[in-house]
Amino acid sequence: MTTVTEPRPGIAERLSRMIQLPTVSAELEQRGSDPFEGFVSLIAAEYPLVHEHLTLERHTEFGLLFRWAGRGASSDGPVVLMAHYDVVPADESDAWTHPPFAGVIEGGRVHGRGALDDKGPLIVVIEAVENLLAEGFTPARDVYLSFGGNEETYGRAAQEIARVFRERGIVPWLVIDEGGAVVEAPLPFVPGRAAMIGVGEKGVMTVTLSARGDGGHASAPPALTAVRRVARAVDRLGPATFRPRASPAVLRMLSRLADRTPGPARHLLRMLSAAPWLTARVFAALGGEAAALVRTTVAPTMQEGGSAANVLPSQASATLNLRIALGESAQRTVLRLRRRIRDPLVTVSVVEADDPSPESPTDNEQFSLIAEALAVSHPGVPAVPYVMMAATDSRHFHRFSPAVYRFAPLDMSNEQRAAIHGVDENVEIAALERGERFHRALIRGLG
Ligand SMILES: [Zn+2]
Repeated sequence: MTTVTEPRPGIAERLSRMIQLPTVSAELEQRGSDPFEGFVSLIAAEYPLVHEHLTLERHTEFGLLFRWAGRGASSDGPVVLMAHYDVVPADESDAWTHPPFAGVIEGGRVHGRGALDDKGPLIVVIEAVENLLAEGFTPARDVYLSFGGNEETYGRAAQEIARVFRERGIVPWLVIDEGGAVVEAPLPFVPGRAAMIGVGEKGVMTVTLSARGDGGHASAPPALTAVRRVARAVDRLGPATFRPRASPAVLRMLSRLADRTPGPARHLLRMLSAAPWLTARVFAALGGEAAALVRTTVAPTMQEGGSAANVLPSQASATLNLRIALGESAQRTVLRLRRRIRDPLVTVSVVEADDPSPESPTDNEQFSLIAEALAVSHPGVPAVPYVMMAATDSRHFHRFSPAVYRFAPLDMSNEQRAAIHGVDENVEIAALERGERFHRALIRGLG
């Protein structure tokens, strides 16, 4: 009964219109909520079939939850496709080639803030749904579109939507949110493109270390002042504070990439993927991003103490930002910090903590479905699991829903990825079209 129709023309123009609404969540106070309400109206106007056939619930001011009823039993878990429609600020005085909120279409690309993060990934979802509706298609399971308007400011929209699911006893069968993308050469010696699928995300924690000391004149200081205590504590929290450990996702990433790699590098990757201990050591030794994949990282970000050059401060403190490895917890991380600092006079206080997510499997139906949809939209591009360093809204679902994947089906060059939260953000129109095809294939593949 279904006839295969080509997607409607104009995805670039519609994305351009979305970009022209400056939904900058960090500037909500200055700009007001008009751009956000404008976005909701724009969706209703541009996607008449979505508007007609899906129900829209609003959870908090900035959480949009669309439900597309499937033909399956209500006990089949639904699919939740997530994205956010707020963006980070763009300083117009920075050297943008095209103004960040003009939505200029040029050179086969759409330019502007949000093109990749995250209006591009959002539009390919909603376009796919609109196009399937035009074909008279009904999905095998319920499909929810969960769009948040305050992801970039750690707002509560997505958290609230996840809470609603929980309250209603609905456990999603599959959740897809932003995260990985289709990228070129994910490791230096691995040629070709790969679809990097985030199967988990590290936790985030901010702690302060503080110490008190006797204030007084700086001319006759005691051996251990408040500043020295804090400095010593920070020094004791070097890169080796947390033991490196290769999570299953990292090992599977290596083995998938090995299949695509020619020459001796293939054997190296194979060997590493079979030896977690060695992988952990090698990645830790590489430092930087590689090390961050296998261990909890500690970054001292702020230090404070004293107000005059010649006066001993009675208090000093340092702020640390930690990214907690998968399989660890915020609680165990604090215990470890205390043990390493070995100084009862240094107070460790947690400012905020978010545990790492669980790790989604890759040997299940859901991951296979993603790979099959990719075969339609990006033939020959493998689905490769990895661990994300950054936090996404999907972590709220991951606490109770096992199959959560962080992936936008858009091609992103290194240059384009660098423009996210930076200058000259842009997306290729051809990439948008492939992304729409991905979601159509994914939704079709449910039954
Ligand atoms: Zn984002």
